[in-house]
Amino acid sequence: MEKSNGQRVVLFPLPLQGCINPMIQLAMILHSRGFSITVIHTRFNAPKPSSHPLFTFLQIPDGLSEAETRTHDVTLLLTRLNRSCESPFRDCLTKLLQSETGERKQRISCLIHDAQWIFTQSLAQSLNLPRLVLNTYKVSFFHGHFVLPHLRRQRLLPLQGVDYLPLTPTNKILETTKTSSGLIFVSSCEELDQDSLSQARQDFKVPIYAIGPSHNYFPGSSSSLFTPDDTCIQWLDKQEDKSVIYVSFGSLANMSCSELIEIAWGLSNSDQPFLLVVRVGSVKDTEWIEMIPEELMERIKEKGKIVKWAPQQEVLKHRAVGGFLTHNGWNSTVESVCEGVPMICLPFVWDQLLNARFVSDVWMVGIHLEGRIERNVIDRAVRRLLLEPEGEVIRERMKLLMEKVRRSVKQNGSAYRSLEHLVDRLSSF
Ligand code: UDP
Repeated sequence: MEKSNGQRVVLFPLPLQGCINPMIQLAMILHSRGFSITVIHTRFNAPKPSSHPLFTFLQIPDGLSEAETRTHDVTLLLTRLNRSCESPFRDCLTKLLQSETGERKQRISCLIHDAQWIFTQSLAQSLNLPRLVLNTYKVSFFHGHFVLPHLRRQRLLPLQGVDYLPLTPTNKILETTKTSSGLIFVSSCEELDQDSLSQARQDFKVPIYAIGPSHNYFPGSSSSLFTPDDTCIQWLDKQEDKSVIYVSFGSLANMSCSELIEIAWGLSNSDQPFLLVVRVGSVKDTEWIEMIPEELMERIKEKGKIVKWAPQQEVLKHRAVGGFLTHNGWNSTVESVCEGVPMICLPFVWDQLLNARFVSDVWMVGIHLEGRIERNVIDRAVRRLLLEPEGEVIRERMKLLMEKVRRSVKQNGSAYRSLEHLVDRLSSF
């Protein structure tokens, strides 16, 4: 680590796995550049301070009841959190700023928060604290917040009532972003988002830093909210090179029993080894995998392994993994690109739909299931990807994309340069 530069950055992540990982990775990057780090977080989905002893963690009450923390409605959850966290966050930040002049004499240079914390603008302004917005989406998706209201006004959106954006209210997010001192994309870079980046720079009119896949700066670091089952690495060690299909749908997606059963049949019928993550509570009306019929369970045992949570980045790095059946959350998509693992796309909602289109139709590094959760379709896609010449071509393309993105975070790459600009900017506050 570089010597401390006497500046402290305050980070405020949303309590979702896909937001905590990138925020903690950003913290590690900034810490390595001499900044001290304070993370303000909710009680719900609190990160583990013991995993990051060099950071200061401050917990605020979030007002969520036990039942509310179990909701599957993310929009509702975020609305409640925004309502109940405003006052405790203000108290916490104010106290922190008052202590600046105390014993440690460390200057708080700025606040970095997720775009969906929409109450921060007036608060930071009243405290005279510079504020940057962190974004964990693909740039082209986030730019949709800018484009969508125009399309709605012009009645150019054909489908009413469709969840294009998870995190309403769109205009508030937009305003929070446009009034900030800068917008940071932790998992994007010119190589993945060139057109949208130049458009977003014009539209948002604030400096945009696309610092690239952040986990590439500190591989192996983890801020998992769930406990990963490491036995899957020993299981992967026993499999042949590029033979395994890894299956995971992230930390939020839910499915029905019959959908999980179709997926499990499809994987078993493909006759390829597979590692399937089924999160506890992710299958409706059941605790975990009790509803899988015995006959299918016997088939799964022949070729597959099911875990509750995997050390995903380690899994994707493993030589045995040849494909990733994914919901195309942006973190999962980028992690797959960074390891050169081609994908089978099964997006559920929101940005996943757009990310999957990029994978299958723009970069052409994956096969899209087009929403068909049917055993024959899944079986066929696995075989196409792992066994057929088409899969070879996809793999080659993925390798090229991986190399481009990896170069981006190396010295003088586009993401690396963007990070340098970000560090300069934070130092200037
Ligand atoms: N993840 C993991 N183990 C799993 C499934 C997911 O470590 O079994 C991690 C994954 O590496 C990624 C994050 O959880 O960093 C999921 O983020 P993503 O944006 O892909 O999806 P979300 O959970 O937000 O839908």
